[in-house]
Amino acid sequence: MLIVLDPGHGGNDSGAVGNNFLEKDINLNISLKLKDIVKSKNINVIMTRDKDISLGLQERCDIANKNKADYFISIHCNGFKDTSAKGTETYSYPGSIIGAKLAVSIQRSIVSMLNTIDRGTKTANFYVLHHTDMPAILIETGFITHFEDVNLLVNKPNLFATAISNGIFNFLGLQGVSISDDIEKLHQGGLINDYHDPESYVKWKDFASVILKLIGGYKK
Ligand SMILES: [Zn+2]
Repeated sequence: MLIVLDPGHGGNDSGAVGNNFLEKDINLNISLKLKDIVKSKNINVIMTRDKDISLGLQERCDIANKNKADYFISIHCNGFKDTSAKGTETYSYPGSIIGAKLAVSIQRSIVSMLNTIDRGTKTANFYVLHHTDMPAILIETGFITHFEDVNLLVNKPNLFATAISNGIFNFLGLQGVSISDDIEKLHQGGLINDYHDPESYVKWKDFASVILKLIGGYKK
């Protein structure tokens, strides 16, 4: 099983802009966390980009097609001149039954976990949906131009990543992961860097680095 994750935009293409944030940064942030969670289920993941670089739409499709990915998931945020527009919507390619099913699963998961407005699942002839060979979806996670949505996108990227992951896992018939408030608190406090499955084992190197951060480094 191989999933290609595609953080929209990047480099000199910022995507939508709102409330002093750039879409490309939010897309990448959520996608990097999403990658960690999906990989924790032993699913292979390839990112079309894992840093702030420019990448053409065909290049993104080529990465998925050449690697014969099973699914292609593009992560975006919406923007609109009317700053009251808000909510989540997920797109699949017209006529793709599997794509539509995956879109519904992810859309439901995001809306229920983040409590964003449900703008529903839609079909569209977007380039990356059209030119990929496998079921492909594009998620508009929320509106960067809406103050509530952008607050969630910037401050709760882990929740978006967990919600999208659980949408994927539900679609694949796998058990979802739970978000642990305690783990989230350690993450926000800077004691741990990445998402950790609450049920996974701690390695000594991770344990040691948390202890060192707690006591403020080595004492002589
Ligand atoms: Zn976008």
